[in-house]
Amino acid sequence: MNSELAIAVNNLSKVYKSRSDTDKLALDNISLTIKKGSIFGLLGPNGAGKSTFINILADLAKKTSGKIEVLNINHESNLIDAKRLMGIVPQELNIDPFFTPYELLEIQAGLYGIRKKDRRTMEILKMLALEDKAKAYARTLSGGMRRRLLIAKAMVHDPEILILDEPTAGVDVELRSNLWQNIQKLNQKGKTIIITTHYLHEAEELCNEIAIINEGRLIAHDTTINIKSFLDKMTIVVDYNDNNFNLSELKNFNLDMRIKDRQVQINYKPSEVNFNLVLNAINSSGSKINDMKIIETKLEDVFLQLTQK
Ligand code: ADP
Ligand code: MG
Repeated sequence: MNSELAIAVNNLSKVYKSRSDTDKLALDNISLTIKKGSIFGLLGPNGAGKSTFINILADLAKKTSGKIEVLNINHESNLIDAKRLMGIVPQELNIDPFFTPYELLEIQAGLYGIRKKDRRTMEILKMLALEDKAKAYARTLSGGMRRRLLIAKAMVHDPEILILDEPTAGVDVELRSNLWQNIQKLNQKGKTIIITTHYLHEAEELCNEIAIINEGRLIAHDTTINIKSFLDKMTIVVDYNDNNFNLSELKNFNLDMRIKDRQVQINYKPSEVNFNLVLNAINSSGSKINDMKIIETKLEDVFLQLTQK
């Protein structure tokens, strides 16, 4: 037990059972802690398992195994209390189009049993710059406004932890920075923020800590500063068929190259050296390649480079 933790997850797994297809292991033994008061980024490509993780927290999906604690409260044995500590903004922008933002927030407050005099509907709408739209039909709202309305809805019961699944999906660029400001303001008021995204630069901008998942597995978790510097390192190991390879082209680049028999190890910073140029030089060495690997943590560097574009 640690009073500094907003969320503690131990050995969390999720299998989606299928009658027709093979079962899908969407979360594979994830252990993760999220500090109270932080802005935490859960990063990973499409299909990594981000929404599955969020949906389990939101009780929209059932875990297969593992343990979750929300501010030290057991998410299984004390689910109602645990849920009350979280406000979750789902990835899909589904809003009942025939209610106004004001009504939607009032209904949500009713669901949480918040008495009329304790409701903060206008205050919340104002915080998310929706006060002008309080009485407008939800169907007339833009994508960005809908996103903010969903955030407002998640804030109704004043949760300690606000969780946003892909908050910038469907939000235009101008509104994005506005959304970020709102999220930062909430964080300054002491709320823990968890966001998922498949864009590294988005997580970088906002988060103190980042976890990266891929195919249901946790592949990195560190401070944003460490993640960034750690990602700016790439190691490529190439096994050639013989030792007649010519890698003089690589000497033009700022990198560290070690040659041992038929194996070459190349270390470089992707921020300084272009991956494709290195790859071309390796390929045009005049010798057949037996095997090539990008070592361990560097795999996600490749995936991040790809997903950033
Ligand atoms: P992300 O949010 O990172 O894009 P998801 O959590 O939505 O990823 O999906 C993780 C994996 O689980 C994907 O392969 C997806 O197809 C699968 N999946 C998600 N929801 C279901 C479901 N309800 N039934 C079966 N498979 C699912
Ligand atoms: Mg998702």
